[in-house]
Formats: sequence, structure tokens, C-alpha cells
Amino acid sequence: MADHDAIVVGSGINSLACAALLARGGWKVCVLERSDTLGGAIQTAELTEPGYRHDVFSAWHPLWVGGAAHAELGDELAVRGLEYLNTEHPTATLYPDGEAAFLLRNADANAAELDRNAAGDGEAWRRMLASFFPNADLSFGVLGTELWSRDGLGLGLKALRRLGRRGLAEFTGDVLATSRDWLSGTFASERAHGLLAPWVLHTGLGPDSAASGFMTQVIAVAIQEGGMPIPRGGGAKLVDALAALIRDNGGVLETGRDVERVVVAEGEASGVQLADGEELTAERAVIANVTPTQLYGRLLQGEAPPAFRYGRSEMQIHFALSEPPRWEGDERLAQTAIVHLTPGLDGVSRAVNEAERGLLPAEATVVVGQPLTMDPSRAPGGQGLLWIQLQELPWQIKGDAAGELDTKDGTWTEELRERYADRIQGRIAAHVPNLESSVLKRVVLSPADLQAANINLHHGDPYSGSLALDQNLLWRPSPASPGHATPVKRLWQIGASTHPGPGLGAGSGTLVAKRLLEPPLLERIRKLR
Ligand SMILES: Cc1cc2nc3c(=O)[nH]c(=O)nc-3n(C[C@H](O)[C@H](O)[C@H](O)COP(=O)(O)OP(=O)(O)OC[C@H]3O[C@@H](n4cnc5c(N)ncnc54)[C@H](O)[C@@H]3O)c2cc1C
Repeated sequence: MADHDAIVVGSGINSLACAALLARGGWKVCVLERSDTLGGAIQTAELTEPGYRHDVFSAWHPLWVGGAAHAELGDELAVRGLEYLNTEHPTATLYPDGEAAFLLRNADANAAELDRNAAGDGEAWRRMLASFFPNADLSFGVLGTELWSRDGLGLGLKALRRLGRRGLAEFTGDVLATSRDWLSGTFASERAHGLLAPWVLHTGLGPDSAASGFMTQVIAVAIQEGGMPIPRGGGAKLVDALAALIRDNGGVLETGRDVERVVVAEGEASGVQLADGEELTAERAVIANVTPTQLYGRLLQGEAPPAFRYGRSEMQIHFALSEPPRWEGDERLAQTAIVHLTPGLDGVSRAVNEAERGLLPAEATVVVGQPLTMDPSRAPGGQGLLWIQLQELPWQIKGDAAGELDTKDGTWTEELRERYADRIQGRIAAHVPNLESSVLKRVVLSPADLQAANINLHHGDPYSGSLALDQNLLWRPSPASPGHATPVKRLWQIGASTHPGPGLGAGSGTLVAKRLLEPPLLERIRKLR
């Protein structure tokens, strides 16, 4: 008798969704997490001052709420205390001249907003929606399907039947366009370009990357339709509810359990060995939420690792404030969940390029998150709390594009981390005059801190692997070994490094759970009769 049906290595969102689906399906599951808390890149903590509850890493849940796991588990999680809050003001871009552009929650509002800057851009928005919606199932289907499988083939055939050969060629060509080409070919106003271009950073790409135009459209539509939901009380509420669901279905979750090796017997995974030498056995599957670096370099010693690249590094800055930030300019900024500070499309492009050349960007795209706009419970008396994200940073630092900071060391020292954060704080303070006087405490996490906090955030890459086209979609995690099966039978790889990539959608965990829960072939054939 094995100890469990399935052992899940790591407790990120993909692990928890996978374990919850399997446990509900009658499997005896065990989740093993090496750190002291469950949730991986979802952690809520009083990081700065008592009563200030910060989402330390991820914060925004549109991918979870729009995903297949939520559709299946949402009701059972709500019963276990998970409640989503949403907003009519999901995002805006604030330009250096103090003007702002907003993306709102319905087509009419967005068309009117875009027309403010260039008459005709509103109509361009409506045309985009009219061409996107009829094939939205294909666009979202690419992200929710195991592509190297009969389901992937089925999706391809569905597209071919609907669009025809020429139509499919055109659709695929459109998917490959860059964000720059799509934005500048669609909207006249540079304000419209700057409103949407920063969102490609949240997909791990830059505005000049292949397929970033497609990702820009998917995100723009998803935000209009889905808003920017967050759980009341912080992201950890999602983790707590999933853990409760797993336990209620007989599963176990253990922290402080570092898996060192997958035990392989006669070519099949039969369990895991922990760092303290203990072995646990699994009857039906071992599911590892790890990067290829760890899978092949540690858990499967002896297997040749496929080539795999990491993407840009990231920094988080958390502020506890004694009062709400007072934004200058458009009063809607104070109600907006995510405000991007950037000069626009070229600004994002320049900062990405600088980071990719090893430089600290002179004028980074600053993601200013304001969870209190939806959930005042996260700070005492609803005072002030900011979640800041910087997605354009190098791991090995060759210099400072602004020529100001000492980068001779080439690594993320504490001194460099704080001085770079000062630059970003100054950028925000230029639009929020009460920022500096209201800071109670600031906590900064450099790329090195991110890596130390979660082994999957290798080199501080928040997305656990470059999302360049040759390592994305059909080719994730790598062209030599795409999908979730591994060279070892009964060993599956999930997590941000695998298709459909990073984010809180739990796509890979859901795909693998569904695959494992499929009835055996004979039973399926019998059912068809
Ligand atoms: C700073 C930051 C902000 C982000 N913001 C957002 C956001 O707002 N919205 C969004 O949708 N996405 C966001 N993302 C992306 C998203 O959070 C991640 O892609 C997602 O959470 C990754 O989930 P995962 O299942 O791949 O595993 P992870 O969350 O990476 O968790 C993996 C877990 O496995 C554990 N583990 C690894 N190896 C072992 C081992 N050998 N033994 C035991 N345990 C092990 C690790 O300790 C870790 O806890 C953000 C990411 C970061 C880093």
C-alpha cells in the first residue's frame, strides 16, 4: 500500500488547484511545501506595520476568477470563506505631464474614454471587440488547452472548420504581431498606446516581442469584462480556502517539507525523498510544481536537462502610509486598482530594452497597486497601503541607464536595492505630493530576495521562465520537452514554467488534474456505447 495516491511537490496555486480537484475526485493527495507557509507566490503578511496586510507577491486575481479551476471550485471555496471584491476602475496610465488614460468596465465607457484623446479611437475599440469576441473561445482556448494532445488537435480543427485555411493563416498571423504594431495600427492616440502597452509586462513580454499584440488584446478584453478582482482580506484567503477544501476531502498539506528527489522504480515515479531522508510513496502520480532547473538539476538527477531560459527580474516595494495617497490630476486615480506610470509605449519599450541589456532602467514602468480601493480592511482605518511592482530589471547588473547608481558589484546588494527603490519612490511622489510625508514604513524585495523567498522565482523572474515565443504556448516549458508529461512515467510537471505559463489561473494544475481524472480508455469506450 502506498502512502498516497498522488504527491504534489510545492504548494503554489497550480499545486493547490490540482490537489483540490484530485481530492474531490476521490484521490488521496499529499501536498509537500518546503517553506513555512502554503501558497508559493500568494502570501499575505503584516510586512510593514501591525494591521497592514500586504500581498507580498501576487495580488490581482482576474486570471483565477476567469479560469477553469475557479469555475469548478468557486462555490465550494466561497463556502470556506473566500469572497471576491471588484471595481469599476481596474486600471489607468498616468503620464509624466499629469494626464491619465483609463480602461473601464464596459465597451461604451471605454470608447468614450478613448475618443477623449483622439476622435475615432472609440470606434477602433469597438471594431477590436467585434473581431475579438466571435473567436474568443479560440483565443482563450489556446491558454486553457493541453496543446500537445488530442484536445489541442481538436482546438486546431475547430479553428480550421470555422475560419478556413486562409482565415486560419490570417488569425495565426495576427496572433504573432507585436504589441507595438497592433497598437499603432489600431489607435491614433499615443495615450491609447500607453494605456495598454504596460500590460504586456504582466505577461512577461515586452511591447516589441512576437505575440505581444495578441496578449495585449486578450488582457484588454479580460480587464473590461472581468475587472480586477481581489479576495477580501488578501490573497492568502484563496490559499486558506483551497487548503480547507483539500483537507475536507481527505488530503494532507505539510509545510517545512523539502523534496530532494523523485524516487523512480522501473522507469516510473513511485514517490519522493525529502531532504531529511524520509521517503513517501505515491500509487498513481507525483506532480512537481518546479522549474526545469530544479526538475532536472535536483529531483531527477541523471536526466539531461532541456535548454531553458529565464526572463527579466522583478522588484516589489510595499508602503504602509499614515493617510491615503493624494493623487494630483484626475480624481479617478484615487479609485483605480492599478495605475501604471510611464511615458507611454516607447517608454515601456525603452525600459524593457535597457533591462534586457543589463541596465537599471532610467524611467521604469511603475505598477502602482492600490488594494484599498476595494478592500479597506487591509490597513487600519483604511489609511494607506501601496503595492508596487517593477518588471523591467536585470539579474546581472551591467550599469545604470540613468548613470546615477553605483552598480560595480553587478549583483543585487541591499544598498542598490534601496537606492533604486528611492528612484521609484521619487517617481510616484511627483504625482502624489503627500507620499513622502506619509510613509510609515517601506519594505523592498529585490530580485535576490524573491529568489530567496521562493526557489521557483529563479533569478527573481516572477514568471519562472522567459515567455519568448520559442518557450511559450506549444513550446513551453521547452521545445524539446513541451507539455506536462516528463521522461519518467507517472511524473508530471506543473507550475508557471509550464503551459499556459504564469499567473493565478492555475492552468497547468487544472490540465494535469483533469487528465489524471479521465476514466481509463476502456471505461470511456464503454460509456460511448
Ligand atoms: C511579485 C509577483 C507578483 C505577481 N503578481 C501577480 C498578480 O497580481 N496576478 C497574477 O495572476 N499573477 C501574478 N504573479 C504571477 C503568479 O503569482 C505566479 O505565476 C503563480 O503564483 C505561480 O504559481 P505556481 O503554481 O507556479 O507556483 P509558485 O507560486 O511559484 O509556488 C511554488 C511552490 O513550490 C515550492 N517548492 C518548489 N520546489 C519544492 C521542493 N523541491 N519541495 C517542496 N516545495 C517546493 C516553493 O517553495 C513554492 O512555495 C506574480 C508573481 C510574482 C513573483
